[in-house]
Amino acid sequence: MSYTELSALGEFGLIDHLTRDIRLKNASTRKGVGDDAAVLDYEGKRVLVSTDMLIEGVHFDLAYTPLKHLGYKAVAVNASDIYAMNGTPRQITLSLALSNHASIEGMEEFYAGVYLACERYGIDLVGGDTTSSRTGMCISVTVLGEAEEEEVVYRNTAAPNQLICVSGDLGAAYMGLQLLEREKVVFQGNDRTQPDFAGYEYILERQLKPEARRDIVELLREKGVRPTAMIDISDGLASEVMHICKDSKVGCNLYEERIPIDYQTFKMAEELNMNATVCALSGGEDYELLFTAPLDRHDLLSALPGISVIGHTCREEEGCRMTTRDGNTFELKAQGWTNFTKKEEGPSHE
Ligand code: ADP
Ligand code: MG
Repeated sequence: MSYTELSALGEFGLIDHLTRDIRLKNASTRKGVGDDAAVLDYEGKRVLVSTDMLIEGVHFDLAYTPLKHLGYKAVAVNASDIYAMNGTPRQITLSLALSNHASIEGMEEFYAGVYLACERYGIDLVGGDTTSSRTGMCISVTVLGEAEEEEVVYRNTAAPNQLICVSGDLGAAYMGLQLLEREKVVFQGNDRTQPDFAGYEYILERQLKPEARRDIVELLREKGVRPTAMIDISDGLASEVMHICKDSKVGCNLYEERIPIDYQTFKMAEELNMNATVCALSGGEDYELLFTAPLDRHDLLSALPGISVIGHTCREEEGCRMTTRDGNTFELKAQGWTNFTKKEEGPSHE
């Protein structure tokens, strides 16, 4: 395949080329790409806004990240923030700084991923900006979404004695990243062997093509469960549960045996001499939803597919803790955990 330099189209030609097939999906989008600003109409609903930036070499490595996956991920991680507010994403703007390594074909791939995610989450691409970069590629996505005022779920509204629940499973994206980093020499062509990912497809997909949990938000709505507080897990379970606890002024107790971890995550962790629970607590990029709910919803929630009840909130004075499989109690730290009783001798982060 041959690559065409961006200069063949110029900035305006490129934007036009990449956005010409947009078909708007949402009634709230009155004007999309093509004027000085997009025009939206939310008709009295609450408007949710969130933004995320991805930098080459910091957040992604083009040595092993296909551009289509990268485009998909840039949209999905933003949609996840809107779902974490119990809202519905509607529009994104997408701003790009492109290096002189970028090609028209590469950008077509990237936008194919962007549009695939927009399709999946019902989002309109309504604008952006395009500029050049002297270093790597930078991607900034802003997402707008909506919710009825009484539907919005914040981080600071959990109360003591509520259930703590999580969707999906944790730690897999981090294990996928470790595997890709280990095999990177192969991607860079410094090695004649082929990377062998057999048996690790799931953790790779979790790293390269994360999904926002639209299905979970819809499931909870359908079952009439309104989370009391919610957050999406981008930086590891420990850090996110502590955000909810700190902001809501509650403590928590998690049970290690209830933390959902996929078999491939266990297998990879074992191969790398790591602890899978630490990966779930401190790994990143799971984009699962962590939420609290009233105690009387226990039976309903624990019967739902894709949801695990992993603990409960308690009074703030009791702190944030985890009870391990062997019955010990540890104090949670944003990065992993330390021994609750003998702080100095707790298990190390590894
Ligand atoms: P302005 O000069 O007003 O900033 P631009 O020439 O940057 O306008 O953009 C023209 C139109 O194309 C605008 O509607 C803008 O939102 C949109 N746009 C620019 N860059 C992108 C991009 N990377 N992806 C999608 N839309 C874009
Ligand atoms: Mg501009």
